[in-house]
Amino acid sequence: MQPKFFNVINDELRGSEQTHAVTDPRTEDELWPCPIASTQDFEDAVAAANKAFESWSQTTLTERQGLLVKLADNLEQHRGELATYIGKETGKSVILSNIEIDGAVKQCLYYSQNGLEDEVQHEDENSKLVATHVPIGVVGAICPWNFPLILSNIKVVSSLVTGNCVIVKPSPFTPYGVMKWVELARGILPPGVLQVLNGGAELGQAMTLHPGIQKISFTGTTSTGKRVMASCAKTLKKVTLELAGNDAAIVLPDADLDKAVPSIASGGFFNAGQVCVASKRIYVHESIYDEFLKRLVGEVEGKYGIQEEAAAPSVFGPVDNKMQFDNVKSIVEDCHKNGYDIVTGGKTTGVTSTGKGFWLPPTIVSRPPESSRLVQEEQFGKSDFCYPPQYERAFHQRDTGPILPILSWSDENDVIKRANLDNAGLGASVYSKDLKEAERVARRLEAGSIWINQSERPRFEAYFSGLKDSGFGGEMGKQGLLAYAYTKVLHFTKN
Ligand code: NAD
Repeated sequence: MQPKFFNVINDELRGSEQTHAVTDPRTEDELWPCPIASTQDFEDAVAAANKAFESWSQTTLTERQGLLVKLADNLEQHRGELATYIGKETGKSVILSNIEIDGAVKQCLYYSQNGLEDEVQHEDENSKLVATHVPIGVVGAICPWNFPLILSNIKVVSSLVTGNCVIVKPSPFTPYGVMKWVELARGILPPGVLQVLNGGAELGQAMTLHPGIQKISFTGTTSTGKRVMASCAKTLKKVTLELAGNDAAIVLPDADLDKAVPSIASGGFFNAGQVCVASKRIYVHESIYDEFLKRLVGEVEGKYGIQEEAAAPSVFGPVDNKMQFDNVKSIVEDCHKNGYDIVTGGKTTGVTSTGKGFWLPPTIVSRPPESSRLVQEEQFGKSDFCYPPQYERAFHQRDTGPILPILSWSDENDVIKRANLDNAGLGASVYSKDLKEAERVARRLEAGSIWINQSERPRFEAYFSGLKDSGFGGEMGKQGLLAYAYTKVLHFTKN
């Protein structure tokens, strides 16, 4: 039986006259109709959230944390169904779809144990200064397609544990899993506290402009993030932006290649490179370059090949959507046109048995020029061949796809300069047997998170943020909750 999807407004399931269907990235089959929220749906959701906030904001941290445990249980209970929808809309394998559920469960459980508590900021014989954190109001969560559940859930649990209400807008490329998840969570929270609306750029922009929404948490491209911030300025909404990265990995001459090679292969090709903090530029010391490259190609060819069946035990898959597929394909074609050294992969057609699907093989390019599109460029594209104009994304970045440049270096200052881009600073990694040396280099890198001897894997316990054009503020960890609260200070006098 064909599944049905709904906007969830004040715990009511609503269809819509307007629907769209996502294209299955593995096969290019059309998936199921999904209702697009109307202006009335949006207004009703904002009104319901503001009404719910009156009592939800008065609940205690302990009460809210108890409900997060129930949300985690609910995810576990519906794991199979949710993983199926996530797998279909993203093209993820069964393993990868389940990683989404695992991540969301862990986020719920982490915040069920960690919340913002009052803090004495100063005390002396005359005074005591106590900081207390209060909810902001209604949060609009605007989400991308690469990890639809994890990246929506982090915004939801951060909102809920701090006492806010939240309206989630998934990417129109991946609405099914998130819509079903909110539908299945009905009854756990009071009506209006957690709602979901499906739509594209138009709905996203309406959320950023509406005076009944007090905070926007946005994850997506840098270009959209700038628009979000400009719109939020009109009502002085609080805003958090989690944006694109172009992460450098620096391999020092003494790196343990037995460990570094598999780690970098995973950093570059996990989820077909569609990770905001994927390793996207690999700088290998000249003295070990040839050996590193040979081993990396072996690792990637052995472990990251195309496996058309979702059940296959693979963490590699197709590109999520046609727009991004054409984007990455054009980069591969640019490498061919310029005669760069493509050491594995490189095909853009005929890579599957049917010739269908948004598949590109893992592709490694040796020593492309630093100025090449593959290494540097954020390019321009349009998605109107794929979705109606309201879903159009004006810019998209080269950074989400299975193609990886391997560059060499010999001078530390030079490689640090190349790694530190003017316009991005999300993540980075450093590989060396000497931890002190690795730390010294890591501290010179301009990124929000730097991993040592491992590829980039955000942890829920750690604050996650982008420097420069990679973000504004951050999320995760206890510190991430501060972005979902106002901090008030109570000044007590003792005499
Ligand atoms: P996107 O910017 O195209 O869209 C993100 C969301 O914004 C979607 O829900 C979209 O419908 C909505 N939107 C589009 N125009 C809008 C507007 N004018 N106002 C408000 N909302 C609008 O990004 P995407 O392609 O969905 O996501 C991929 C990007 O996200 C990559 O660049 C990736 O690096 C980045 N990303 C960053 C992080 C992070 O934590 N820093 C995590 C995952 C992905």
